[in-house]
Amino acid sequence: MIPAGFEYHRPNDVASAIALLQEHGDAARVVAGGHSLIPMMKLRLTDLSHLVDLQAIAALKGIEIGAGSVTLGAMVTQHELITHEALAAAIPLLREAALQIADPQVRYVGTLGGNVANGDPGNDMPGLMQCLDASFEVQGPNGTRTIAARDFYESAYVTAREEEEILTRITIPVPAVGTGYAYEKQKRKIGDYATAAAAVLVGKGGASIAMTNLSDTPIWSEEAGAALAAGDRDGAVAAALAAIDPQEDMRGPIEFKKHVAGVVLRRAIDRALLRVAG
Ligand code: FAD
Repeated sequence: MIPAGFEYHRPNDVASAIALLQEHGDAARVVAGGHSLIPMMKLRLTDLSHLVDLQAIAALKGIEIGAGSVTLGAMVTQHELITHEALAAAIPLLREAALQIADPQVRYVGTLGGNVANGDPGNDMPGLMQCLDASFEVQGPNGTRTIAARDFYESAYVTAREEEEILTRITIPVPAVGTGYAYEKQKRKIGDYATAAAAVLVGKGGASIAMTNLSDTPIWSEEAGAALAAGDRDGAVAAALAAIDPQEDMRGPIEFKKHVAGVVLRRAIDRALLRVAG
């Protein structure tokens, strides 16, 4: 199918984009890479008469590596996450996870901001951002505010972002030197969304565990991280599995998904522990 007709807008700054969202209300939506939104429009699952393209807004681009944190513009592509050497050196977990999203064609245009703003439980970046304790800056008619990734997701496709707010930047603390990391994803075939995925950080600074596509939001488990930090691998897995709530769908029944969740999490923990240095 092709999408229904819509009016295309291409503002040059965030304020103009917000003004368009205010002007057209529910009939308008921003488009970033378009690789989640356009398929929905083609299937006529989303009825929009105005698309506000963010591609021409320079302020939404760029990767800044600071001493203690990195800041990524919402329009940074998944491809850029993979190819930026300084970013991969600071937070190698980002590259490892981005390489497991879709395929190169999608990653060339799909953006970090679109992936986290979308609110699709199948997207890989939300759980990853929770594992990394990222924060999201959003800008709207009432100004700018910052929301922790761990507080952002409310239910499938529902987030703490208001309709007229635009996600502008993502800030991620740089994990301590020597922190072990791993992103493990089980999928039916190359390019598919996760049946289950796990993001793990472990090191002197503690541990953090998040899981993807096993509930209607990403699952970050404080108990699982605390257990792993205390050296209790089985306790960490048990705590994470107690927090998930998978549903039966084309990727399998509930018991299968719980099994796969345990397998990917154990693999991620083991690989992360092998990478702990110093
Ligand atoms: P868009 O599609 O442009 O936007 C998605 C939603 O976010 C829209 O509602 C839009 O209004 C909103 N939005 C976008 N940017 C902003 C912003 N800055 N502020 C506020 N709202 C915003 N993703 C995965 O994570 N894992 C996969 O395995 C995977 N496999 C895929 C396979 C295929 C074949 C395809 C087509 C896509 C796949 N994707 C996967 C999705 C892909 O990564 C998308 O690119 C990504 O989810 C959305 O990014 P986007 O830039 O394309 O956003």
